Amino acid sequence: MGATNVTFATGATSGEGLVTRVERTPTGAIVVVDTTPFHPVDHTWPDQPGDAGVLSSNGQQVAVTEAVMAAVSDTGDFAVGIDIPVKRGAEGWTWLVGHRLDGEAPSWLVEGAAVRLEVDAVRRSGLSRGHTACHLASLALDLAVADLWRKDPGADALGNPDFESRANQTSCIQEDGSVDQYRLGKSLRKAGFDTEGFAASLADRESQINAQLATWVASGADSRIEVDGPTIVDRRRWHCDLPEREAVILCGGTHVSSLAEFAQISVALDLSDPQLLVMTTTVDRVAV
Ligand SMILES: [Zn+2]
Repeated sequence: MGATNVTFATGATSGEGLVTRVERTPTGAIVVVDTTPFHPVDHTWPDQPGDAGVLSSNGQQVAVTEAVMAAVSDTGDFAVGIDIPVKRGAEGWTWLVGHRLDGEAPSWLVEGAAVRLEVDAVRRSGLSRGHTACHLASLALDLAVADLWRKDPGADALGNPDFESRANQTSCIQEDGSVDQYRLGKSLRKAGFDTEGFAASLADRESQINAQLATWVASGADSRIEVDGPTIVDRRRWHCDLPEREAVILCGGTHVSSLAEFAQISVALDLSDPQLLVMTTTVDRVAV
C-alpha cells in the first residue's frame, strides 16, 4: 500500500476510491482510501482544520467528522494525527489521509470496498476563503511594517521584509477568517524590529493593511495550488498573480481559485499584550 493520493489541490470535493485500511481507535474508526478529495489537518502545523463529509457505497453512507493525517511505519506501527512520532514525509513511513468516523465503522465499510467520497463543500469553500485571506493578510502585514526593520530579516513572497516568518507563532484558519499570533519579544527586537515604533502606530498600520487588501481584492487575481506530485506528502505551493508580482508560498492547505470570490478582506490588530500581536482576519464573500 502506497501513500494516499489527494485531489483537493484542484478544488475537487468528491471522488471514488478503494478502502485500503480500517483502523479502530478510542476516538472512532479511521478509514484510509487509496485516493481522496478530503484535505486533512496537518499534524505538525495544524493551521487549517480537516475536511468533513460523507463516505458512501451502494446506498449506504457514514459521516466523516474530520480528515486527519495518518502514517504506517515499515515495521507496521499505525499512528494518527499528533500521535505520529515523526515529521511529515519522514523516511520509513507511508503517509496516509485518514477519514475519522464518529464511532465504529459500519459493516459495509471494509478493506477493498469501493466508496464514493463527498466533502462538505460549503465548509471547504469557507476554509479555502479563510486560508487565502490569511496569506494575503500576512503579506499585507509584512508590507505595512517594512519600514520598522533596522536589519534585513529576509524577503517574503513579494520581496518585502519577512515579518511573518520571523514572528508568526500560530495560525488558525476558520471558515471565512483566520487568527494569527505573532511574538513581539526580545528576539524580534534583537533581529532588528522596532516593536515600540510598531506599538505607537498600530492604528495606522491596520489601515494600511486594509487598504492593501482592498486593492488586492479589487484585482480579482488568479489563485491556485501547484503540486510536486499526487500524494499527500508531495510538496504543494499556493500561487497568486498579484498586481506587483506572482506570490508563491509553500502551503499544504486549500485556496480559492480567484480573488474575485471576495467582496472584502479586513483585519483587526490587537496588542493588548505588548509581547503578542493578534491579527484577526475577516472575509466578506461575494454573494452567489
Ligand atoms: Zn497556507
